[in-house]
Amino acid sequence: MEQDPKRYTITAALPYTNGPVHIGHLAGVYVPADIYARYQRLQNKDVAFICGSDEHGVAITLKAKKEGITPQEVVDKYHAIIKKSFADFGISFDNYSRTSAEIHHKTASEFFKKMYDAGQFIEEVTEQLFDEETNQFLADRFVVGTCPKCGYEEAYGDQCENCGTSLNATDLINPRSVISGNKPVLKETKHWFLPLDRYEDFLREWILVDHKKDWKTNVLGQCKSWIDDGLRPRAVTRDLDWGIPVPVPGAEGKVLYVWFDAPIGYISSTKEWAEREGKNWEDYWKNDSTKLLHFIGKDNIVFHCIIFPAMLKAEGSYILPDNVPANEFLNLEGNKISTSKNWAVWLHEYLEDFPNQQDVLRYVLTANAPETKDNDFTWADFQARNNNELVAIFGNFINRVLVLTDKYYDGIVPEPAAFLEIDEQTLNELKAYPAVIASSLERYRFREAQAELMNVARLGNKYLADEEPWKTIKTDEERTKTVMYVALQIASALAVLSEPFLPFTSEKLKNILNFKNIEEKPKWSKISAISPPSGEMPLGRGGHKINKAELLFSKIEGEQIQKQLDKLQASKKMNASINSAQAAANKKVTPQKETIQYDDFAKLDMRVGTIIEAEKMPKADKLLVLKVDTGIDVRTIVSGIAESFKAEEIIGKKVTVLVNLAPRALRGVESQGMILMTENAEGKLVFVNPDTSATLSASGVANGATIN
Ligand SMILES: [Zn+2]
Repeated sequence: MEQDPKRYTITAALPYTNGPVHIGHLAGVYVPADIYARYQRLQNKDVAFICGSDEHGVAITLKAKKEGITPQEVVDKYHAIIKKSFADFGISFDNYSRTSAEIHHKTASEFFKKMYDAGQFIEEVTEQLFDEETNQFLADRFVVGTCPKCGYEEAYGDQCENCGTSLNATDLINPRSVISGNKPVLKETKHWFLPLDRYEDFLREWILVDHKKDWKTNVLGQCKSWIDDGLRPRAVTRDLDWGIPVPVPGAEGKVLYVWFDAPIGYISSTKEWAEREGKNWEDYWKNDSTKLLHFIGKDNIVFHCIIFPAMLKAEGSYILPDNVPANEFLNLEGNKISTSKNWAVWLHEYLEDFPNQQDVLRYVLTANAPETKDNDFTWADFQARNNNELVAIFGNFINRVLVLTDKYYDGIVPEPAAFLEIDEQTLNELKAYPAVIASSLERYRFREAQAELMNVARLGNKYLADEEPWKTIKTDEERTKTVMYVALQIASALAVLSEPFLPFTSEKLKNILNFKNIEEKPKWSKISAISPPSGEMPLGRGGHKINKAELLFSKIEGEQIQKQLDKLQASKKMNASINSAQAAANKKVTPQKETIQYDDFAKLDMRVGTIIEAEKMPKADKLLVLKVDTGIDVRTIVSGIAESFKAEEIIGKKVTVLVNLAPRALRGVESQGMILMTENAEGKLVFVNPDTSATLSASGVANGATIN
């Protein structure tokens, strides 16, 4: 990539439309992408900041089934909610589209067709999991089972959420249908595969050699492990009725795999924008002087670094991403954010509790951004960063400057007198910040960049504290004018430099400083061009009228934080009670049998015996053949416990034996009695054991025993 690209195509991961967005999404993808896009615009760069809703895939159809509505209704509902949340938080997309849009269906379809015509796919009939009860193939999230890598039992057919491994549904151990709960069968179906193995050498070279220095280590690490594992052909079509129909003969009832069509959504969203703005979309996707960047979370690395680049390469006319600055995950109060457990801070709910305080959340999320490792959001930290940093440092500096300017000069920027060394030194320090912040941003170090922004406010506070205009106003009016003039330049620099991070605050501050009445509105470059004493200044020379002060930030009280913690506590309690209700529902409790009389019970002759031999009955899964010493004799008993106990582990065990049960033949072996078994609270089969249950009274045995 050349040093100074002509334009930037910045994409942010398409959010999946099966629920609203939470702070984890914002911290991982959208805030850093927005900071970057806003920063490049402030540098006068040509930017297309592109996103949209990802509306296909199995999870949408599952959600629709669960809510009893159509998939289209599901995506319409969440597309609107998500789009509004992004707008509310100042995520400055140039275009926010959706993959159900016609332009996207057309674009994705053409993309597939071009690859198909060029022979870029392998066509293969394979066996896929099929649910016989509901008569449908089970792709992706229609099937769960045990992850072959980590053993997690709830892994999905496309990915294990525990270890992040990307899976094929047929990889799962003990798969079961999400729709019917049944064990699926294998059934033949034809699909098209992207032969990723053909791109292995290219990917290895392009990622691990060419981008060794500029990609983040967490991204490189994941890519390396994928490539080293060996890349295999990957199906890009599915047997489903929700999605983009596969545009080739013999593909009836099949759609493009959601992960094939979704990244093409960046392209179609760019087309939609270009059409509206009168631009040429191809400049943003097919021109070498364009810098293409994908902002994503770590769960999307393989799709954006391996699969999508292989698709772009195969199609042949596109540029490849220059960088994929993926973040790790944000946790909440020490636990993984979970939509299903409602362990999240939802953006629309945050705004109800903290109206007009979007920037506080943006600030805290950037300060804690999970840039290189998972990080934690806590409400205590949220409060501390607001009160100790935004209010005490940034807000305090601005407020002092504005209030004093109003008080001393009626809101008119004073004409400075002679600059002392401290003034020039301070302004020189100030003019260095745009480059310092930019250098961090260009390397996708957003936390570091924002920390430097706060250092600008610290510089202002220190300057005021050292020069004490509130004292000099009584002794030296000319000196006070210079000090307030310099302080106002720092304030206006903050208004510009804070825009990528705190866009609402920046806007407010620009209004107070009356930027709209300045002929050439200050941009990034104007701050670095500051040249005291007579040269460039962001606010110009004296005489500029500013508006009345307003508070930029306000203190957040303990009760507000407690309210949020209580909310999370309520989710925790709710989950605990759902879990115990589920456990109760899962427990198979057999109703009590009909009451019998004591005389019936007294007929049973029960003895304590010892198992002296045990072996599996050939060709019978459930049966063990036991030799039991009953004290009166040694006899053979056939017992249906082989699924719960291994033969070798019960030899020597003391058991309770019903010795006067009429003999009966099981698989040709005569069983002379019965070992008493019962189920414990977890539904596990246990011996009615004379070793552990000391009282072998008639009632003690009879209450628990079930004839096995
Ligand atoms: Zn796993």
